[in-house]
Formats: sequence, C-alpha cells, structure tokens
Amino acid sequence: MSIQKITKTVERQVEEIVSITCDKCLKVVNYPDDPNDHSEWEGFVHINFTGGYGSIFGDMSTVSANICQHCMEEFFLTFPNGIPFTQRGMDLFFGHIEGEKTDEKTDEKTDQA
Ligand SMILES: [Zn+2]
Repeated sequence: MSIQKITKTVERQVEEIVSITCDKCLKVVNYPDDPNDHSEWEGFVHINFTGGYGSIFGDMSTVSANICQHCMEEFFLTFPNGIPFTQRGMDLFFGHIEGEKTDEKTDEKTDQA
C-alpha cells in the first residue's frame, strides 16, 4: 500500500516583527541581520497584564509595555537587594549547581490504590 500525497501551492501573508521600541527610553532595536546584535533583540522584555479588582491600574485595564534590557537593569538596580537573578542557566550549561545534585535519583514512593 502506498501513501498518496496531494499537494497544492499556497501563498500566505506572514507578519513579522522587524523592530521593537523600548517604551521607557524609546531605543529602537531592529531585527538583527547580524547575529552579534541578537542580545539586544533577545533582551527585550514584554510586560502584559490585566489589572484586577482594586488594582491601581484600574479594574480590567490592560497594561502592556516593551522594555529593553538596559532599562530593566536600571529598574532592578532600584531594588534594595539588587538584580533578582541567578546564574542557574549558566550553571546548568556548565553542569554545576552548588547545593543541587542532578545525578541522584530520588527514592520517592507513591501510594497507589
Ligand atoms: Zn530602554
């Protein structure tokens, strides 16, 4: 038995984001053709949430913003404990996380009826 495939050629319109503007500093970052520029593009944070009942932003109001990594850093540096980040990603990449043993198997048992 052979599988038959019937195909057709279609044209589709695809919308791509080609630039992002930071809503705080108004810096514009274009989608990078140069891979060395990727960090600015990838570093953007998009915040989007809806205010709930009693929210200072207004009940059911949508708050949405694009923030560049530099403005995020500036914001985090206002925190009393500094930037709330971990090195977890890099530690996982290099295979060492202090206090965690990833090669141990847990001996958890679940009760099954
Ligand atoms: Zn910015």
